[in-house]
Amino acid sequence: MVRVTIWNEYLHELENEAVAKIYPEGIHAVIADFLKKEGDISVRTATLNEPEHGLTEEVLAETDVLIWWGHKAHWQVSDSVVERVYQRVLAGMGLIVLHSGHHAKIFRKLMGTSCDLRWRDVGEKARVWVVEQGHPIAQGLGDYFEIPREEMYGERFDVPAPDCLVFLSWFKGGEVFRSGCCYQRGRGRIFYFQPGHETFPVYYQPEVQRVIVNAVRWAKPSFVDNRPVLMHSEPLEELNN
Ligand code: ZN
Repeated sequence: MVRVTIWNEYLHELENEAVAKIYPEGIHAVIADFLKKEGDISVRTATLNEPEHGLTEEVLAETDVLIWWGHKAHWQVSDSVVERVYQRVLAGMGLIVLHSGHHAKIFRKLMGTSCDLRWRDVGEKARVWVVEQGHPIAQGLGDYFEIPREEMYGERFDVPAPDCLVFLSWFKGGEVFRSGCCYQRGRGRIFYFQPGHETFPVYYQPEVQRVIVNAVRWAKPSFVDNRPVLMHSEPLEELNN
């Protein structure tokens, strides 16, 4: 089983009626529902207002892949919890960052850049192109899929060049965006996926669900032994200098 924790800020759904209509139990509940249908994935959820944001040492120790959705309250996430998540990623936990999570403290810390981007919220069509056919995260998709209404995110996306770019999105207004980016930091795999603005029912769309399921399987820890202890080292050969 892949043990997934879905973290959601969970504020828009409580404060905005239009968002609550789409996600009455929260974005995390909808993501949990479709992940639970997979036989090999177990799911728990955590939200900002829980003690330690629901991301205690114990929870993270039992998490193989953490999914992150946040937007308006990135600054409220405590630095100590961010550091805890960061260390878990370096040790091998997978991290999937969704949509406005591009500005989450944890993502910026892992990327080392501003993660700024161009945006426009009018609800335009997005066409998500698969640019790495055969990649595990693109499994089951065609050449592209479309999202009828989505927030536009456009380049430049100020992130390091991804280790692998799986998706490139085009928006009706004309911009393009690197919408599916893979990274490795330490032993942990990271996947950033752009779709998921809170006022559109994006996480109900089968193709989007397919990507997230695929990404969970791709991001699960893949190293088999413990992290080596790195310290002062005696030479293996005689050194005469
Ligand atoms: Zn948004």
